[in-house]
Amino acid sequence: MRDVNLKEKFCNCVADKLLEYIVKEKIIAMIAKAIYGKAIEKSKEILKRNRPQEFLRRNEKFIVKYERKLRKRYSEMEKEVLGKIKYLYEIYNKSSKDGFDVNQWLFNRQKWRGTLTADGKLLTATPLESGGQYALDDLGLEIAFDKMDPRVIEWIATNSKNAAWSITDTQHEKLRTSLMEGIADGESIPKIRARVAEIFAASRARATLIARTETLKASNRGGWIGMMQSGVVEGKQWLSTMDARCCPECAEMDGATMPLEEPFFKLGEEHTFETGKTMPFDYEEIQHCPLHPDCRCTLLAILKEV
Ligand SMILES: [Zn+2]
Ligand SMILES: [Zn+2]
Repeated sequence: MRDVNLKEKFCNCVADKLLEYIVKEKIIAMIAKAIYGKAIEKSKEILKRNRPQEFLRRNEKFIVKYERKLRKRYSEMEKEVLGKIKYLYEIYNKSSKDGFDVNQWLFNRQKWRGTLTADGKLLTATPLESGGQYALDDLGLEIAFDKMDPRVIEWIATNSKNAAWSITDTQHEKLRTSLMEGIADGESIPKIRARVAEIFAASRARATLIARTETLKASNRGGWIGMMQSGVVEGKQWLSTMDARCCPECAEMDGATMPLEEPFFKLGEEHTFETGKTMPFDYEEIQHCPLHPDCRCTLLAILKEV
């Protein structure tokens, strides 16, 4: 009887100890997992936060190239306009001023629309393809980005044409308005030339903005098409730089998610942000960044659940 009691006591004691160890180990494992998990989450968050900066860095060389080309084109346009003024001014002075058409003094709009479209195609194809390849590499897939994808070809053609026409027509209109004003005031040739020079100097300064917007748009387009080509992505998340240069509207977009092929904003839609600012999306649907000219945001892929 005594033996049995002792045995039981001993067993209970061992069991308690064992239980103590098991519980202790479990707790340690739980704590470790929580810390480790948090570390993973944190590093994921850091990676995510670095993405927009990294996106800007890898596109910098394409932006510079675009900017240089556009500046050069503005200078060529300027030369064309200045070259005509003296000759046409003489004709203008000899003729009846009523029927005068200032358009004769300006550059050949059709020709420039074509030249800038061709430039745009070349200048946006590289960042688009590079953005697409980056998206696929980022997913760990060893797939080459398909440059012949109709979505790539169609977008490059349409976007280059739209951008080229917009650049050309804006420039044409600025010149027309200013020169009409100069003529109405009876300005001399040097004054008219100064007006032309001033307009082109301002445009060359604006070239950076156009270059950045168009390049980053192309890179984001490529990234989005790359995600579609991968077959493993079901959604997209908007990532903003969240730095001092990030505007409140983009900051509000940060973290927004959408199914991969659904636009953040539809064409013709109008959205009022928390800042009270209303943006009409009447140029194109917003499938990806940019939200506006000079926007520096980018997209992150959301994977399909396996
Ligand atoms: Zn913004
Ligand atoms: Zn933005």
